[in-house]
Amino acid sequence: MESHSNSLIPDAGTTIATIALLGALPRDRFVFKNDAGFDNLHQATYASALNSGLRPEFHVFPENAGEVSIFIKTIRKYVISYGVKFAIVSGGCLTARGCSSLDSGIVLNLSQLKCINLTTKGVEIGVGAKWGDVFLFLQHWTRACVGADDAGMGIGNGMSLDRGLSFMSPDGGLMCDNVRRCDVVMADGEVKRVHRSSFYALFDALRGGGNNFCIVTSILVRTFPHTQRIYGSTVKYDYKEFVRQISRLATVMEKEGRIKHADISMCFVCSNTSGRFGINYLKYNRQTEERTPPQVLEPFIPAGEQELGPEGLSDLIKGPDRTPGKRWAHMHTFVKPDFVLIRTGLDGFLNKANQLAQCEGSTYSYCLYPYDRDLVQNSYREDFSMNTAAMIMIVFRLEWKNGDDDDTILNEFRQVLEHIEHNARYRDVAVGFKNMSYSAHFQNPIASYSDAYKKTLRRMKKLYDPNNIFQRGVPGPWKLPTDDGTK
Ligand SMILES: Cc1cc2nc3c(=O)[nH]c(=O)nc-3n(C[C@H](O)[C@H](O)[C@H](O)COP(=O)(O)OP(=O)(O)OC[C@H]3O[C@@H](n4cnc5c(N)ncnc54)[C@H](O)[C@@H]3O)c2cc1C
Repeated sequence: MESHSNSLIPDAGTTIATIALLGALPRDRFVFKNDAGFDNLHQATYASALNSGLRPEFHVFPENAGEVSIFIKTIRKYVISYGVKFAIVSGGCLTARGCSSLDSGIVLNLSQLKCINLTTKGVEIGVGAKWGDVFLFLQHWTRACVGADDAGMGIGNGMSLDRGLSFMSPDGGLMCDNVRRCDVVMADGEVKRVHRSSFYALFDALRGGGNNFCIVTSILVRTFPHTQRIYGSTVKYDYKEFVRQISRLATVMEKEGRIKHADISMCFVCSNTSGRFGINYLKYNRQTEERTPPQVLEPFIPAGEQELGPEGLSDLIKGPDRTPGKRWAHMHTFVKPDFVLIRTGLDGFLNKANQLAQCEGSTYSYCLYPYDRDLVQNSYREDFSMNTAAMIMIVFRLEWKNGDDDDTILNEFRQVLEHIEHNARYRDVAVGFKNMSYSAHFQNPIASYSDAYKKTLRRMKKLYDPNNIFQRGVPGPWKLPTDDGTK
């Protein structure tokens, strides 16, 4: 754990808020920064040390929605009168600095809300659960749902409620279109059940509004019959092949708008421990034991590469290691499937990766995630109407070891990304979205939404959080402005 210059003594507002919370919730829901075990627990909460490196006064772990409500009812007057701050965290996977943690202040840690229930309408998932647990649970019922391709990934806000992409998306749709209901705690502590037929505007606002309106305690997600055995694997190759892979991906997305039934993502990895290589993550939603590769995957399986075949989901969604203390960041942009842009973007990225190769523990990856045309066109998310063609999300996935390198790495790669965005505008292939799940702290997904959707967000904020509990009390990036224009 890093040392920080902030005072060992919390400010007066946080102190009296703490006393009030201790009177309102059982003592064993609290872990204070001086308690044994705090450091391990705090680090394990977050995928990235950009968040675990911040040091709150304590974490509070409600065990049900009622306790979340008590938390909000208790703390709200201290937010209003003393400017007390609290962060909200579920799975802690979103890597943007300060999005779910803070220096001083309080962390509302929802990791204990991890119940999973199958109902006739779908699977109810507490926000503290992990996607791996959800798939495992549904396997008993020979069912599946749209969810993350990493077993350790949290349910949280970005992926589930924003335009999260799943390996099931080509057939199942975007994550936000599969969420049928949210149970939430509002700024006044009221517990609400929000879905299409009740509180529709709030439901709409939740799917993109981040932590600006309320606290989500569970979501209900559509399920479908599935054996949980799909065709897929990862294949590795060299730089030249990666350039060919970009060309194939751009061509098929431009011509066909989609890769039928298949989820393909690709990265070029530059690591100072494991070298440089390209890698494709291939998944095809075919529930048979047939070993021959489906035709649509063939261009993405370099000759002589590893054997592919049907696999159980638990093997396919293992995901990267979540090593406590690792520094990890994502930043991204969306573009039309333009080979020249993506290829020149790669070269700019590799130049920077070379320059910053000396940073200890560095692994820099240039990743491509195609969003198929049908997903975009069929989404309930109105702001997708800004673009109705297929697009590709370029994500920089950056890992390193030392806090001293944070600003250099983030600023230098930010410049590379902005250069790609500049070129994309010049070539007329820019797409104006930002996805919260892969945003860095300096990116602003909310600013990228359509005017109509931003209007809904402002209206809902005014209606449900007139005292700005979530604007002023919960710090971090991606906040809606308060009515008086302050943060
Ligand atoms: C290894 C890895 C794999 C990933 N795979 C995918 C993928 O397959 N598809 C995809 O789309 N994205 C993916 N992502 C990005 C990921 O979707 C987001 O990081 C995800 O939303 C995180 O959920 P979480 O529970 O961990 O959220 P957290 O990191 O806990 O929180 C994220 C943000 O939401 C707010 N928040 C969290 N919980 C709540 C709540 N209950 N109520 C209100 N606000 C809340 C927080 O304050 C914070 O601002 C991946 C990220 C990583 C690191």
